[in-house]
Amino acid sequence: MINDIIDEIKGTIPDRVTLVAVSKTKPNELILEAYEGGQRIFGENKVQELVDKYESLPKDIEWHMIGHLQSNKVKYIAPFVSLIHGVDSFKLLKEINKQGLKNDRVIPVLLQFHIAQEESKFGFEYTELEELVRNNPLNALENVDIQGVMGMASFTSDQRQVADEFFSLKEIHETLKENYFTKDSFKTISMGMSGDYRIAIEFGSTMIRIGSTIFGGRN
Ligand SMILES: *Cc1c(COP(=O)(O)O)cnc(C)c1O
Repeated sequence: MINDIIDEIKGTIPDRVTLVAVSKTKPNELILEAYEGGQRIFGENKVQELVDKYESLPKDIEWHMIGHLQSNKVKYIAPFVSLIHGVDSFKLLKEINKQGLKNDRVIPVLLQFHIAQEESKFGFEYTELEELVRNNPLNALENVDIQGVMGMASFTSDQRQVADEFFSLKEIHETLKENYFTKDSFKTISMGMSGDYRIAIEFGSTMIRIGSTIFGGRN
């Protein structure tokens, strides 16, 4: 069942798009089922749950932290996390760099932007990030690799609005790449969830984060 759905999603998305199977709140058995079907990238949004699953599941799984991350919890995931999507402060970036150094590795991250009209979502405003980059050479943080951007569109049935918001993230990525992050690895645009990933791909997404469509609804 799960694998039919994953295959179906993979069959309809372009090769440039990476599928992150969002397994938050779901038991290990379901994750293993997807794993046995070939899925290797899973996303979680809580540190404790991520650590527990990392410890009990196969070690070649690539774990993505997709939720809001507090600086004081970076140390728990720093040894193994494959990509941290939600970096939205300089403080957090510096802490990830510090923990990367401690673990003798370079930790891949994405900068999260606030693209939705809703106020509750986390993320940088573009001007805020630009000011940050101007005042602090982020490329000098040697134990983080800033690989792109991440964002969430408004939860609305207005597809035009969702499209506008995704387009704005694509533009942010382009501008940052031209001006500040010129290295090849700055290529990821993480946007699109179960309800809006098709629009996200249409507007340039390279990484979609799909939970409920694959694993069923969450309580
Ligand atoms: C839960 C979550 C998803 C997946 O949402 P679905 O609608 O279940 O696909 C994607 N991204 C983030 C940041 C999430 O927290």
